[in-house]
Amino acid sequence: MRAPEESRDQPEGPSALAGIVLRLCPRCRRGPIFAALWVMYDDCPSCGLDFDRGDPGHFTGAMYVSYALAIPWIALLTLIEHLIVPAWSLFRLVVLASILSVPLIPWFWQYSRVIWIYFDRYFDPDDPRDEHESESPAGPAAFLENPPIGLGSQKDWEEPGGLTP
Ligand SMILES: [Zn+2]
Repeated sequence: MRAPEESRDQPEGPSALAGIVLRLCPRCRRGPIFAALWVMYDDCPSCGLDFDRGDPGHFTGAMYVSYALAIPWIALLTLIEHLIVPAWSLFRLVVLASILSVPLIPWFWQYSRVIWIYFDRYFDPDDPRDEHESESPAGPAAFLENPPIGLGSQKDWEEPGGLTP
């Protein structure tokens, strides 16, 4: 008896962990997520996956991932410094650890986004591509098209006796 076919969504590339380490697209695990140190692709160059799902605020959550990465890192570095220079105060050690970590900021930025993308795709793998075009217009244009009931049309106010039966 044949084994059930693998899911079509199953990437052919490396494992998820390797995909995170190599910063590859979570769907195909072939296309890179970043074009350069500070430059992210909008869509996967290999399979076209929209990394931010078309949402400009999509990476707000990556901020929390960057805290989750940076805080243990600073703590570890502080501990190592303490073993090297035990006479220093905790404050001095933390400041030094922070200064030493500045060159790593681009990698914290990249990996926080990579982990956020993998986290997001793990819990919500679908990409329904919801378009928001069907939403009714808002703002002044909508008000002019559909004035609130009771205000009446402009004609009622201009014609004398327009409001009388
Ligand atoms: Zn891809």
